[in-house]
Amino acid sequence: MEIETRLPQDEDHPLLFEQGTHGASAASMPVSDVPAIDRASVVDPELLSGNPPEMPEIGELDLVRHYTRLAHRLFSVDANFYPLGSCTMKYNPRVNEKAAAMPGFASLHPYQRESDCQGTLELLYRLRNYLEEISGLAEVTLQPSAGAQGEMTGLMIINAYHRSRGETRTQVLTPDSAHGTNPASCTICGQQSTTVRSKPDGRVDLDDLRSKVGTNTAALMITNPNTVGVFDEQISEIAEIVHGCGAQLYLDGANMNAMLGIARPGDFGVDVMHFNTHKTFSTPHGCGGPGAGPVGVAEHLRDFLPVPQVTRRDDGTYAWCHDREKSIGKVRSFYGQSGVLVRAYTYIRSLGADGLLNVSQKAVLAANYLAARLRHRYHLPFPPPYAHEFILIPKFDTGNVSELDIAKRLIDHGFHPPTMSWPIQHCLMIEPTETESLPTLDAFADALLAIADEIETDPEKIKSSPHTTPITRMDEVGANRRPNVRWQPNVS
Ligand SMILES: *Cc1c(COP(=O)(O)O)cnc(C)c1O
Repeated sequence: MEIETRLPQDEDHPLLFEQGTHGASAASMPVSDVPAIDRASVVDPELLSGNPPEMPEIGELDLVRHYTRLAHRLFSVDANFYPLGSCTMKYNPRVNEKAAAMPGFASLHPYQRESDCQGTLELLYRLRNYLEEISGLAEVTLQPSAGAQGEMTGLMIINAYHRSRGETRTQVLTPDSAHGTNPASCTICGQQSTTVRSKPDGRVDLDDLRSKVGTNTAALMITNPNTVGVFDEQISEIAEIVHGCGAQLYLDGANMNAMLGIARPGDFGVDVMHFNTHKTFSTPHGCGGPGAGPVGVAEHLRDFLPVPQVTRRDDGTYAWCHDREKSIGKVRSFYGQSGVLVRAYTYIRSLGADGLLNVSQKAVLAANYLAARLRHRYHLPFPPPYAHEFILIPKFDTGNVSELDIAKRLIDHGFHPPTMSWPIQHCLMIEPTETESLPTLDAFADALLAIADEIETDPEKIKSSPHTTPITRMDEVGANRRPNVRWQPNVS
């Protein structure tokens, strides 16, 4: 006898609003012990709706199943390899979560007295010191909530510095491979960004830099290793050129995963940098937060850092220090994203200095290993060696298959698509990180090689992929131009 085992399919997975039965609820409230009053006696009757709001009515178990089923549809670092270039989608060790959930950290209130939260303050103070050590910079603020806010904070510091010297500088230079947030941060700070060209090998074109830097240049914002995956070893020379005009060197530290324990930005001439804890230090990552973007500065910029700063008093206790006359002020409510900072601290402490060095060495090895396995079938526009990521271009004689098609086809193989079409046209940017095993790296390389073969045998299969997901190829332009964000009952 054949038993039909049919699990609910995605296409018959209704919205919460379409499930449940009238009167069902996932909450049981005690009977109210205060007398009911007429709504119209407290709210202007004109503002009251004639009907109660349409809310889902569903029991607890069905609610749990609804969200569990949706959760299983997600691509996530815990479920799948996620080689998203520039994003460092590494595994988030569970010990970080354990530390952050300790009641002394998790239940603190931001208005609590300093004497009640000495443990958290000590942790933040130590984390500050570790980041100072890792970056080779004089002082770090933990306040900004993300890399992009770190960039804004850094530029505000740089502008305050120039102003303190009686100068207003309105130009910020960014290499053509810069992350979109770099020019955006310039604009937010009221400055113009000017693009500096790169050479064919991915390094900054020094002649172009020399021709554009001047007395109106506030800073050069550089990412190194850069977004095409190469470390620009001209960096000290770049720093000299920039400093020669009185400008500052800003490092976008998103790629610190290639450098931990190997090189320190402060040693190669950087004046300001941000970290992305959610990239380098394994705090959760995605959907816009929560993250943290600590900013480090060289000695001459300390006075301008945001307040309050966590400090250690002579008697060994910890405190928030508010006096810093030239400070740019506060850039975020309270003290920053402290739960994320506990995770970053735990990560650093659980690895130690040797462990962090090992992270970067393995991240670099993993990227170069993948590049070596793929270079016979894919075009690698920049010569190796690579830092912790690399760029490849699908360039084939047949099939008219684009980078988008390959990214989509990878989903059928169980892999999250790499970063696409940035920072150069038609590319895939692959960052494996150090936490992937050799079998996973090999499976990913095998998938890309199989797709390269498939381009010759069945290009249509690639062009119509993915085939294994609830929604196949989407009209992405249409979704952006005409987003439908309203719930509509009974839409099929
Ligand atoms: C991720 C990233 C940023 C922005 O950082 P967020 O933390 O996402 O705001 C900036 N620059 C580069 C190169 C990045 O990869």
